[in-house]
Amino acid sequence: MSSVNLPRVLGVWSGADEAGMSRESVERFVGRLAEAGVNAIFMNVKQGDGSLCWPSKLRSEAVKPGYDTFDFPAELIEAGKHHGVAIHAWMIDYMEGENGPAFRQHPEWAVRNAQGHPTNQETLRGRRFNAVWMCPAQRPGYTDQWLVPLYGELAERYEFASLHHDYIRYPGDLAPDQYCFCDYCLDQLPTWAGLLNRSYRDEPFLHPLYDRPYLEAHWEPSPRMLPAGWDKFDRSTKAKILLEGSSFAGGRADLDYFFYTYRAHQITEFARLSAEAARAANPNTKLSGAYFKHPVLSGRFIGQDWRTFRPWNEIFVPMDYRDHYPGTVAHYHTLLADTIEDQKQWVGDGELYVGFALWPLFVENPSGPYPQEFISGTFETIARAAPDGVVVFCSGDLDRYGAWDTLRAWYRG
Ligand SMILES: [Zn+2]
Repeated sequence: MSSVNLPRVLGVWSGADEAGMSRESVERFVGRLAEAGVNAIFMNVKQGDGSLCWPSKLRSEAVKPGYDTFDFPAELIEAGKHHGVAIHAWMIDYMEGENGPAFRQHPEWAVRNAQGHPTNQETLRGRRFNAVWMCPAQRPGYTDQWLVPLYGELAERYEFASLHHDYIRYPGDLAPDQYCFCDYCLDQLPTWAGLLNRSYRDEPFLHPLYDRPYLEAHWEPSPRMLPAGWDKFDRSTKAKILLEGSSFAGGRADLDYFFYTYRAHQITEFARLSAEAARAANPNTKLSGAYFKHPVLSGRFIGQDWRTFRPWNEIFVPMDYRDHYPGTVAHYHTLLADTIEDQKQWVGDGELYVGFALWPLFVENPSGPYPQEFISGTFETIARAAPDGVVVFCSGDLDRYGAWDTLRAWYRG
C-alpha cells in the first residue's frame, strides 16, 4: 500500500447475473461489494444480445425472462441506498442480438457493409460474428425509435446515479471502415456533407477561375463533388468512392474525411438525444459512458470522438485497459499515467473515472498464477494521477483472479 490519496469514486462494472433475481440476493451482492469499499456499481441493464433487465413497458418484448416480474433496478437502488453505493445503469447501445426483437422487427435498421450485409455475415477470428450492429443515422430508425426512448424510460422510472453508455460507436474489431453503407446513409451522406446540391444534382459547379496555386484552394463554390454516374452506381462502387475517391478530379483522395465526419456526427447526435430525453424525464439524471482511451483515434476508427460529448455527458469513464496498449505490464503503467493526463484535458469540467480491466493484466498466463502486484500497480498508477474515480472491469472477475483482498486493500485505504 502506498500513501497516495484514493479517488473519491471507487467503482466496478457488474453483470446482472452476479446479483441474482431476488431482493435477498441483490442485497447480498451489493453488501459484499460495499464491504470491500466499493461505492459505485455500473450495472449492465441492456445486454449485448439486446435484452433488458428491467420491466420495461416501452419494449416489453425485449425484457429478459424473470425481469418482467422482478423490478431489478428498484431493488438494486434500494440496496445501494442502504449500503452507500451509487448505482449506475450500464447500457450496450448499438450492438444488438441477431435474435433480439429490435433486429427481428426491423432488420432494415441494421448497419450494412459495401455488399449490403449486416454484421452477422462477417467472420471474426475464424467464427461467424453473431451480433448485429444497428445504424446510428437512420431516421426513423434504431436511435430515435428504440434507444433514445429507453433512456427516457429509465430516467423517468428510476433514480440512477447515471445512465451509462457503452458501445456508443460503430463496430471496431469488426471492420472499422465498412459501416455504414445502408440505403439511408448512401442517400443522406452526400447532401449532409455538402458534396451534392439538392436542386442541381448533376451540375458540376466549377470555380470561375483557377487562379490559385493549389487545386484545393478552389473549393468554396461547393462543386458537385461526386462523379457523374453516382446515381447509377451500385452500393459497393459508391462505398469504394466514398472511401477512396477525391472531392476534386485530380485532387487528393479526401472523400473518406466526409465519411468519418458523418459517422462521428451521428454518434454525437445520439449522445445529445439520449441526454435530452433523460433530462426531460428527470432533470437530476446524469449521463456517463465507457469510452475508448483516445477520442481522436476512436473518432476516426469507430465514430466515437467523445470530446464532443461534453454538453451531454457528466462522467467520462475511459476504458484504459491493458489490451488497449502495447508492451509489458510495466509499459502499461507508464503509458496509462501519460494517458490520464491527456484525458483530464479532454474531459474538461466533467468528471473522470479511469476504467481498467482485470483480465488483460494476465493475458500471458490466463490460467494463473495471477500476480496481485499487477493489480496494485494499476491502482497505484491511477491513484497517483488523481482522477475523480476508478472503475474495475468487472466484479464478476474478482473471484477468478483472486482479487477481492487486493481490491479491498485499495478501496478501504
Ligand atoms: Zn446506415
